Amino acid sequence: MKLFDNFYNMKVGIVDLTQLSSEVIPLDEQIVAEKIGGAAVNEDLFKQYEDDTPLIIGVGPLTGSFAPASCLAVATFLSPRFGGLCHVPLMLRAGPEMKFSGIDFLVIKGAASSPRILHIDKGAIRILSAEHLIGVDIPEALQTLKKEMTHPRSILLTGPAADNGAPGASVSTGFNGSLDKAGLAFLMASKNLKGVIFNGTDGLPFAEGNLKHNETIERNLSADEGHKNDGFPSMLDKIGIEENLKGIIRKAKWRNMACYHCPSPCMSSVKFKWLDPRKNSRIEDNLFLSDHLGFLALAKKRGKDVFPLSESCHRFGLDPVAVAEKLPESGSLLESLNAIEEMSVTPGKSEPHHIGEVPREMHKLFGDAIPPILPDELWKERVWLSMILGVCPIFLIRFPQISEFDLYKFLTKNEDDLNILKERIRFILEN
Ligand code: SF4
Repeated sequence: MKLFDNFYNMKVGIVDLTQLSSEVIPLDEQIVAEKIGGAAVNEDLFKQYEDDTPLIIGVGPLTGSFAPASCLAVATFLSPRFGGLCHVPLMLRAGPEMKFSGIDFLVIKGAASSPRILHIDKGAIRILSAEHLIGVDIPEALQTLKKEMTHPRSILLTGPAADNGAPGASVSTGFNGSLDKAGLAFLMASKNLKGVIFNGTDGLPFAEGNLKHNETIERNLSADEGHKNDGFPSMLDKIGIEENLKGIIRKAKWRNMACYHCPSPCMSSVKFKWLDPRKNSRIEDNLFLSDHLGFLALAKKRGKDVFPLSESCHRFGLDPVAVAEKLPESGSLLESLNAIEEMSVTPGKSEPHHIGEVPREMHKLFGDAIPPILPDELWKERVWLSMILGVCPIFLIRFPQISEFDLYKFLTKNEDDLNILKERIRFILEN
């Protein structure tokens, strides 16, 4: 079965941070035929390079395609938080820009002796110095990178929290945070890896008929009564949010934002007014929100202060769930802001933290940040499917009516191939 000619560059980037060397090698057709892509191919590559404590970043065949919500890249690594293998989803434009930069999978081995950032463009990998970004907060570091690089399309970056070895450190996609609650930023810091920049081009030529097939899926979705296009707050409702917090949400001004090719945004940018105690002045701020569980954890702890506190987590590169666990129930906003700053400079061990339930194994496997809004078995099946194909897991758990065959049909129309795909993905799921 050779389905992927249009869907991959068929290239793997190998970076050795210890030697400061890199190469681009062909993607093994046999691995792709068996494992299809995303988390499953990442796992295979992880085993091949296991002795070098690798970090693998990979896309699926549908990443960057006409399929709905085809935004996904997956980071696979040994989680310092959970101690086991973890697949963390990276959304927004991370997946498409990675694929359009000319490679499908990236294996990052070893550790550098000084801070480095990777730059990938037209299938070539550069290992650049990142010394000047250490200790710099995320918005400022992004400004610096945008001045230094021509058109950096997608930037995965760690902040001061990771630089200082803070246990709640979390990677940021641009200045938008991420779903890294598994210690990806902590692992990157241990490799002296500050970030990865993908400079995508204009995309790949995808198979004929894919545009029409996507239009049919989107039309069916819009006709569905349960389909609401309400951004971040609607997802909070699905997870379950207390009445008193709903009032706080209603007062802010929301603008829905979507990842690459997503027809139903669950992210939002929010405009909020607050009294900055450090300047003693009332200001209006904008914040991009993508981490539903992180937002809820902070909101439960500190009510209306959730907005400035979330901004502070983004600035220092901290996971809001880890922060919420450490913040006191009472006290002033200034005390909480100072506590977050303190957390970002305090080294420690990355260890389990959880608000409420202890994460179950399947949640740990996918980084403990994808909302549990479906029964366990169905959740696991949908998340695995998304993580292999390169489609957003949040989108697939929100819309279980989109069948696996709806997605496979972007890859092939041939009945035999569709069944082979189904069998192979079942096999991965069950093993
Ligand atoms: S469902 Fe949400 S996280 Fe997923 S692609 Fe759409 S906007 Fe992005």
